[in-house]
Amino acid sequence: MKFGGTSVGDVAAFERVFHIVSSQIEKHPVLVVSAMTKVTDALLTAFDTAKKGDFDAAVALLEPHFERHVEVAKHFIPADSPNLFDAELEFARDELSDLLMRASRRSLPLAMLKDAIVSYGEQLSSRLLSEVLKAKGVKSRHVDSRRLIVTDDEYGAAQPIVDETNEIVRLELQPLLNAEEVPIMGGFIAGNRAGETTTLGRGGSDYSAALVAAALEANELQIWTDVTGVMTCDPRICSDARTIPVLSYEEAAELAYFGAKVLHPKTIKPAIDSSIPVRVCNTFRPNEIGTMVLAHSGEAPNKIKSIASKKNITILRITSARMLGAYGFMSAVFQVFDRHRTVIDVISTSEVSVALTLDDPGSVEKIVTDLSRLGDVEVEKGYAVICVVGEGLRASTGLAAKIFSTIDDVNVALVSHGASAVNLTFVVKETDAPNVIRKLHKEFF
Ligand code: ADP
Ligand code: ASP
Ligand code: MG
Repeated sequence: MKFGGTSVGDVAAFERVFHIVSSQIEKHPVLVVSAMTKVTDALLTAFDTAKKGDFDAAVALLEPHFERHVEVAKHFIPADSPNLFDAELEFARDELSDLLMRASRRSLPLAMLKDAIVSYGEQLSSRLLSEVLKAKGVKSRHVDSRRLIVTDDEYGAAQPIVDETNEIVRLELQPLLNAEEVPIMGGFIAGNRAGETTTLGRGGSDYSAALVAAALEANELQIWTDVTGVMTCDPRICSDARTIPVLSYEEAAELAYFGAKVLHPKTIKPAIDSSIPVRVCNTFRPNEIGTMVLAHSGEAPNKIKSIASKKNITILRITSARMLGAYGFMSAVFQVFDRHRTVIDVISTSEVSVALTLDDPGSVEKIVTDLSRLGDVEVEKGYAVICVVGEGLRASTGLAAKIFSTIDDVNVALVSHGASAVNLTFVVKETDAPNVIRKLHKEFF
């Protein structure tokens, strides 16, 4: 059971988690928890502030967030019982102060310091949840994820080493489960082979939970969040978005890749590999059924299940007339992205030109320099990818026409269709995206 940031945001949220966990205690859950809401952002801001040299401001920024933890601890843990969390919090304060000082002096590699600092969100929330549940009579045990999830050294977006992780997770958690204890661990945080703290990327707690579920061959992975399941689109864009009762792994993965924040993009892979059903539920409305993600979902009457979008997209267009009739052009283009370790999202090609999108503008300049050796390169920023998802979408006649005629007043910069059986993806100006989504949502739902 994974609980997101808003699901552990305050006293009332911890109370809700207690009720949800208690109602399923006979299923022997493992709990994976995010940082309390806003804490990860605050830690990142503190890191940036310290990096700029303002150590005192960095430390002061965190104080209100420590207070939020203290408030929850005070509410649930009786004053006369031993309060292990107080000691943990004192330790975290000292450690964070030391790490922020190092960041301000740049006395250790910054990427390494950043992960060490940001990890305290999940370290504290998981220790707090463990103490709260103990105080409420649940036999819980905190486990340090930095020992359990083993990753490479890519700070900020570390890749798990799955075999080693599986072995340690089984070794550490199975005996606790056998003893009817509830293991509680932080999501998002992990450790490399040298024991240094790493993180799995923003929103990565879903992924942590999926890795643990796969290692233990769990019967189900439950993602508890602040909306009732995966919806027909982001409810922040369309207030009339509806819960989708069943999605296939493939549909859920496409939605997650293309911006449905409710699931981290890497969550589905471990679930597919171990055939674990994923349920997405609402902590605020635990009685609503939410979404079930399974191997097969069946087709929706109008074929479309959901619309996702991702902003801040850059389009690159590479044209090389001298490659007409020659082979090796695509290979040369892809090698450039390989060298810069940059992911391509959407791609559309003709014989001598390629248009593709990136959502990491970080290395664009270097990539463009390298691509210029192959042909003319155009760069266009400020776009959004829109991804329409549904089983049977590729095979249905007239659907693309219906989608594009619904938005016939909008310029479509790039289209990709046919690679996946379950999606149609296109790119529009970022400023057009909310309107495009609302129109499509109105037409199809
Ligand atoms: P958590 O902190 O629980 O991980 P997130 O904020 O990461 O929660 O994800 C939940 C949010 O994802 C929702 O509040 C919603 O705004 C957003 N979201 C985007 N697309 C969708 C979608 N298709 N269905 C449901 N929620 C979505
Ligand atoms: N706390 C981390 C974040 O805000 C991870 C997560 O919530 O999944 O990105
Ligand atoms: Mg999330």
